[in-house]
Amino acid sequence: ALPTIYAITPTYSRPVQKAELTRLANTLRQVARLHWILVEDAATRSELVSRFVAGAGLPCTHLHVPTPRRYKRPGLPRATEQRNAGLAWLRQRHQHLPAPQPGVLFFADDDNTYSLELFHEMRTTRKVSVWPVGLVGGRRYERPVVENGKVVGWYTGWRADRPFAIDMAGFAVSLQVILSHPKAVFKRRGSQPGMQESDFLKQITTVEELEPKASNCTKVPIYFLKRFSMVFVDDRTNKVLFCRFLY
Ligand code: UDP
Repeated sequence: ALPTIYAITPTYSRPVQKAELTRLANTLRQVARLHWILVEDAATRSELVSRFVAGAGLPCTHLHVPTPRRYKRPGLPRATEQRNAGLAWLRQRHQHLPAPQPGVLFFADDDNTYSLELFHEMRTTRKVSVWPVGLVGGRRYERPVVENGKVVGWYTGWRADRPFAIDMAGFAVSLQVILSHPKAVFKRRGSQPGMQESDFLKQITTVEELEPKASNCTKVPIYFLKRFSMVFVDDRTNKVLFCRFLY
């Protein structure tokens, strides 16, 4: 059977939420054997998302967990608790099955644009696969550098010293790897901004082991569409002093 793709999407209430979810659902609905795990950053399931899920037209699990207030600050990683809730659900659902089901996990933030080819590529993930991501890292794209079929480095405009210089949307993990590393989660404590991906991937794989997808990472199957901005804030008054869109 075709491995099931599990897409974990953290989401939170804001004016563009329904538009983002609609755009994402329109993509995911076209993918065979996809299970959407939508995790609301909220103390309860909202009516808006509940109604959306009911009419989404694809297999969907609707979870919720609020981000503790102390972590809702600029500069701190977002959606840590929500991605972990998705991981916990996945592990719980599979741990008592007699035979492991083939599956692939992917973190699909609600503000990116995903090409349908991407799902075709990630479906064959054996352990952990990677591909380029467009409009991220201060460049037109960011990508793993591949030599002889192996990842040997990273092309990025931002912190190239990261062990895995890759966006959340730039990798997929087989369900088998998630189940055989039951403690692998996104960390709050000790995690620096932008290190979420590296901290997580370090727990489950090595750079040498990564499987390059999208023609040895020469095609860009996903776009990180949030307008990347630099904002300078007065740390005394919290007023925005200067804001510049990079693209
Ligand atoms: N998100 C969330 N709670 C928040 C902010 C963001 O659940 O307070 C979700 C958002 O819907 C998206 C993901 O986390 O799916 C990443 O959000 P964003 O792109 O704003 O964060 P960044 O990638 O810049 O860290």
